[in-house]
Amino acid sequence: VMSKNKSSESVKVVVRCRPLNRKEESNGPAGSIVQMDLRLGQVILRNPRAPVSEPQKTFTFDAVYDANSKQGDLYDESVRPLIDSVLAGFNGTIFAYGQTGTGKTYTMQGAWMDPQKRGVIPNAFDHIFTHISRSQSDKQYLVRASYLEIYLEEVLDLLDPNHGNARPLELRESPESGVYVRDLTSCVCKSIKEIEEVMNVGNQARAVAATDMNEHSSRSHALFLITVECSQPGPDGRKHIRVGRLNLVDLAGSERQAKTGVQGERLKEAAKINLSLSALGNVISALADGRSGHVPYRDSKLTRLLQDSLGGNAKTVMVATLGPAPQHYDETLTTLRYANRAKNIQNQPRVNEDPKDALLREFQMEIARLRAQLHHRKWRTKQKKEQVDGEGWERDGDEETEGEEEDEEDEEEGVEKEAEEYVKQEQRLEREKQDIREDQFMLADEKQRLLGEKERMMGVLRKEQEATEQLTAKYKAMESKLLVGGKNIIDHTNEQQKMLEGKRHEIAEQTRSEREIQQQMLVRDEETVELRETFTSLQQEVEAKTKKLKKLYAKLQCIKAEIQDVNDEHVRSRQELEQTQNELTRELKFKYLIIENFIPPEEKNKIMNRLTFDPEEDQWKFQPLVPAERSVWVLDVGMLFPSEPSDMYFKTLQILWTLQEKRENIIIVK
Ligand code: ADP
Ligand code: MG
Repeated sequence: VMSKNKSSESVKVVVRCRPLNRKEESNGPAGSIVQMDLRLGQVILRNPRAPVSEPQKTFTFDAVYDANSKQGDLYDESVRPLIDSVLAGFNGTIFAYGQTGTGKTYTMQGAWMDPQKRGVIPNAFDHIFTHISRSQSDKQYLVRASYLEIYLEEVLDLLDPNHGNARPLELRESPESGVYVRDLTSCVCKSIKEIEEVMNVGNQARAVAATDMNEHSSRSHALFLITVECSQPGPDGRKHIRVGRLNLVDLAGSERQAKTGVQGERLKEAAKINLSLSALGNVISALADGRSGHVPYRDSKLTRLLQDSLGGNAKTVMVATLGPAPQHYDETLTTLRYANRAKNIQNQPRVNEDPKDALLREFQMEIARLRAQLHHRKWRTKQKKEQVDGEGWERDGDEETEGEEEDEEDEEEGVEKEAEEYVKQEQRLEREKQDIREDQFMLADEKQRLLGEKERMMGVLRKEQEATEQLTAKYKAMESKLLVGGKNIIDHTNEQQKMLEGKRHEIAEQTRSEREIQQQMLVRDEETVELRETFTSLQQEVEAKTKKLKKLYAKLQCIKAEIQDVNDEHVRSRQELEQTQNELTRELKFKYLIIENFIPPEEKNKIMNRLTFDPEEDQWKFQPLVPAERSVWVLDVGMLFPSEPSDMYFKTLQILWTLQEKRENIIIVK
């Protein structure tokens, strides 16, 4: 058992069972094999092939949601606290795990149009932006979203407009933000509508890429990432930034992919489909075990991306989804075991405070820079105007002396005044041109010259105005990306609704703590039952102990059956692995045959010497033909000048010497 230090907490695991669908209902009276005790958070699974006498399997989780469960209940009880943590600067992850068709996508996305059926993701959007609109006005927020997919062990950017032909992305690791995807598109979102749009764009890209959406979505992992950065002045008077990262993960279907009978490319493909999920299983097992030092995160793209979420700096919720139909008993049991193991993973979440790579800081600095530029421009215009006025030009009459002490609120107004000023100057120039044209005493040449001069001045003015407008637009665009607390970006903030929401959250919290107490009581009951027992007669003692023995015996049988099951599963997966191995060996023999018989040995050696393995990309790679650093250039100067040494000879030599000083790999032969 892992030591529980103060900042450590376990992965929360909840289980949800979807209702029987029409087809399953018509299959007969067997009905559902999944039973749930909502109060205790237990799942009771019935084996449809076993005799009735066989004890049913019981699993306990942080919460369970049956066929009648509401999306909103799952959100309020099991997701809301996590999103609250993300808003406070923690990393958070929710992943849906389960067989295809059990409700992963329903749980994560749901039916968008029906408020009752909206899933975790749309509810989280609502939650995040509502929180921002209700927070204090000294807080500034920056919200970004990315959407990616892992398919056949390739990371694909779903927001890249070029999605169809885009190259797979690479994973990188930094000490600041852990494992991340290089060059992943990230969209700044200022409202629920905008972030929903991002989700839609990504969903569309997914559907377009897939020839068969059902098969595609059951074989790929979809990760929606939201980064919430929040800046707030601390007691030291400086702005501090907290960064919460949220991963919303809809995993590929957990069912075993058939590998048998396929060869070559298809075999490789089948192996890749399974890779990320089996790696996830291995990571969970290694972490749950707690004893094995090595956690094989590097075995797949998925486990690398979720490295922080599993055993690291994050709060994590796993939603395991089940189908109730008897024919899926094996898969359902496997899912429950998987989920049961994940409960034992310990994470070490902490608030991400003032990380170096906070984008909000960069934005704030850029905005300050643009504001300074605008101020400078304004100041310059004023100076010019004063100069012009000072030269005795006609005054406008509506001269105003404005105060220098302008704060941020006045920025917009200042910008407008600026524009007005330009218009005034332009009008003045226009008027002056008119005056010149109408001047009857001026010579035509002189007129032409003066008009040309005015024309040039107008050009300069126009260019300046354009530059200012561009700067202003850029400034406004940057500033609008930052959300300020307390501004009404949500329209449903009336008090009554707020109160109702508050009550709902309270109830959810209560349900949760009640369940925790129930679970603790159950454990204590089993431990203390014999302490309370005192026997008045031998007969009574025998009876009580027989009862107890029976209970323990039943328990023993359960555990024995469990061991048998796990063994069977082991044997099955071992057989599968062996079969894969046989197929791969056959493939290898085939390739060897070709190489040995059809490729000349010296060619083969040349190629072999140039190949190195890149573990980052899990690929063999060709080294460049001659590594540039180590190549040696032997320059025979005598060859260039076979006759007597001339001026040219010495000059060339000099140039070569300077070259040699810079590059060690040049040898000069005279
Ligand atoms: P998965 O993503 O795991 O493959 P889906 O989310 O697509 O599964 O669900 C399969 C079907 O079951 C869908 O038609 C979905 O609407 C329905 N469904 C899943 N979970 C529920 C639920 N809790 N209540 C009602 N319908 C559900
Ligand atoms: Mg799905």
